[in-house]
Amino acid sequence: MAYEAIWAADPSKLNKMELVKLEKDGLDVIRTIIEKYATEGYDSITEDDMNRFKWAGVYQQKPNNGHFMMRVRINSGVMTTDQARAIAAIAKDYGRNLMDVTTRQAIQFHWLTIQDMPDIFKRLEAVGLYSYEACGDCPRTVVGNPLAGIDRDELMDTTALVNEVNDFFLMNRDFSNLPRKYKMSISSNIYNSGHAEIQCLAYTPATKVIDGEEVLGFHVWVGGGLSAKPHLAKRLDMFVRPEEVLKVATGVTTIYRDYGYREKRHHARLKFLVADWGPEKFKDKLIELIGDMPSSGEDKTVGWKAAYFDGVHKQKQEGLNYVGLSIPVGRLSGDEFLELARIADEYGDKTIRTTVSQNIILSGVSDANVDKVLGEKVLERLTPEPAHFMSRTVSCTGNEFCNLAVVETKERAKSVAEYLDSKIELDEEIRIHFIGCPNSCGQKHVADIGLQGSLIKTPEGMVDAFDLAVGGILGPNAKFNETLKGRVKGDNVGPVLEQLILFFKENRSPEETFH
Ligand code: SF4
Repeated sequence: MAYEAIWAADPSKLNKMELVKLEKDGLDVIRTIIEKYATEGYDSITEDDMNRFKWAGVYQQKPNNGHFMMRVRINSGVMTTDQARAIAAIAKDYGRNLMDVTTRQAIQFHWLTIQDMPDIFKRLEAVGLYSYEACGDCPRTVVGNPLAGIDRDELMDTTALVNEVNDFFLMNRDFSNLPRKYKMSISSNIYNSGHAEIQCLAYTPATKVIDGEEVLGFHVWVGGGLSAKPHLAKRLDMFVRPEEVLKVATGVTTIYRDYGYREKRHHARLKFLVADWGPEKFKDKLIELIGDMPSSGEDKTVGWKAAYFDGVHKQKQEGLNYVGLSIPVGRLSGDEFLELARIADEYGDKTIRTTVSQNIILSGVSDANVDKVLGEKVLERLTPEPAHFMSRTVSCTGNEFCNLAVVETKERAKSVAEYLDSKIELDEEIRIHFIGCPNSCGQKHVADIGLQGSLIKTPEGMVDAFDLAVGGILGPNAKFNETLKGRVKGDNVGPVLEQLILFFKENRSPEETFH
């Protein structure tokens, strides 16, 4: 392929993973898993193919004793109850009844074995779901507005657009070898439910008067991303009509594939190319590829609600409601998920929606059925009226399962939220995010209080500790949080946050918010 020729021409400029990808496309590993490894077993897996497992949506789980985690892509986080039941059954049959909602609206399983994979792939495909390319150097789950189609705060229903972009890129071998992971969001929600500024490519709601008529469409953002060197995406001076969304996505992704850096893996995300080129040069290159586009119109994003929807809310459809549930640190059991599917079938519109805040929404509930839903037993834990701090606490996987983690996160996050809820009453919601390493899957940089795991030396030996950062926000005033001096021992995080938040509560001026 043309793009391979660009890079293969000078292999000395390629990092080791690039050579692995050139030797065999990441997508080819899916067939190898099914036809070889699932029968020959864990010990037969080569190191290079283990690196390619990500294209199947599969990671080795810690400890490395033959277990894997798997992510399933959910477009915009919206799934049918048939899909939800298939997911719950996989969790129960193969994943020790455990599931996580991720910060990209995906579902993550744990404890899978290589022998389980063919049946899991088959069961997912049977309901139109895929783990393929949920990880790896390729276009991943397309994040979107979980309320697409029912949202009073959206300019248009983006369901079909997200599906179109997903269907084009999924398993598309022209784009299965990108320099690194590649994240897109498409949302028309005026409160930025797609977290646009931290995506490689994002679409946000906009309008423009063209030939005397107001057209609904999008603005385009490129080059956002977190990890050790976080970047906020830059807006291109461009207005995109809905029918041009895929064309623009193809152009941006082509630029990344052909011009993105492949020498050092930690310098390979699109954000580095955008930072070097600047949005003007990037736009010029894009126009070269896709043709001229109108300049930007009127931005319709008015704020950021961090994709929280807890409680009962009216839909755009008269007489219907959605019920936002809090899933503590994104974790629930397959049995609980099955119950949610039953409730969605009985009282809702037969869909379940996941959010980037690691929560779940039930939708299409008639006014007459709201109380019946609220009375369901499973909602005692997965409640629409969560405790104050628990409701806004996010956590990555941490060292319970993640090979890259320095510390445990999910249990820590839960116990800190419970501690704060037992100690502090506050009228303002404070978002607290935990991550176990600089990769920032738990999106620490955008939190009111972000905690990044590390280790510190004590007389008793090395212990878990956290760096603290405060004041992150997305939307019109987007900025990453700023790291405070010092490091807090894991066991002291609750009391230290208590002091910090009480200081804010007692000293703030009347209009002052935490960030
Ligand atoms: Fe693992 Fe680090 Fe991501 Fe947490 S942030 S899930 S520790 S890679």
